Amino acid sequence: MFASIIIVSIMEIIMINLDNFSSFFVANWKLNGNYKFIDNFIEEFEIPDNNSKCIVICPTFIYLDYTIKNKNNFYLGAQNVSQYEGGAYTGEISSTSLKELGIEFCIIGHSERRQFFKEENKNVNLKCSQLIKQQIIPIICIGETLEEKKNGKTNEILAIQLKEGLPESSNYTNTIIAYEPVWAIGTGLTPTLEEIYETHEFIKKHNTKFINYKILYGGSVKVSNAKEITSLSNVDGALIGGASLKANEFKKIIQD
Ligand code: PEP
Repeated sequence: MFASIIIVSIMEIIMINLDNFSSFFVANWKLNGNYKFIDNFIEEFEIPDNNSKCIVICPTFIYLDYTIKNKNNFYLGAQNVSQYEGGAYTGEISSTSLKELGIEFCIIGHSERRQFFKEENKNVNLKCSQLIKQQIIPIICIGETLEEKKNGKTNEILAIQLKEGLPESSNYTNTIIAYEPVWAIGTGLTPTLEEIYETHEFIKKHNTKFINYKILYGGSVKVSNAKEITSLSNVDGALIGGASLKANEFKKIIQD
């Protein structure tokens, strides 16, 4: 009993308290970047200390260690994790390895993983569990395709992705949701502000479990639209691909 109280207290100290931040800006670098790129980015990307905004940079696995050693007022996130803890799974990266490196966030269920690597909600669920066990915050991406949107299926799809993709252990203190309409990623297209607001309302209210989750918006966020999107009362920040590769643009998005 005493031992378990100590373990719970230590976990609370180790885990990031999401409520300490006013908003979240997550850079998904996808399959881009090298040492020179990272050096230049960090040099240009000067963010003042004690920033209440949580900034997370997600390079490819291979550069996580280098970036974490050279970082400056931001957190590090991975773009994926194995659904397995260890064993004969060639080429996989485990949540325990990420923990050892000092990684605090991890994107899971990105639409590119779902589309090109055939990841399904059940895989996302296992990955999420592995991360939560290691006190790494999963950023779970959900979103509808254009066809699903046209057929009026957006809410149905999101509800299924959340129901099947999130394990029992997930809650608003240990998991972030990113709403990323698939048709908006890398296309320059975005939903209207009303659509973003309404979809975030749906995510929060369709099941009481989700009312306090942090929900980010992702999909063609750039300097010209970031402020109006992230100012919506139920948008807790943004997940940014293309525009996060330019240090000055990413900085401007955060500081606006
Ligand atoms: C993404 O990759 O998650 C993303 C939102 O990309 P972009 O900002 O380029 O649309």
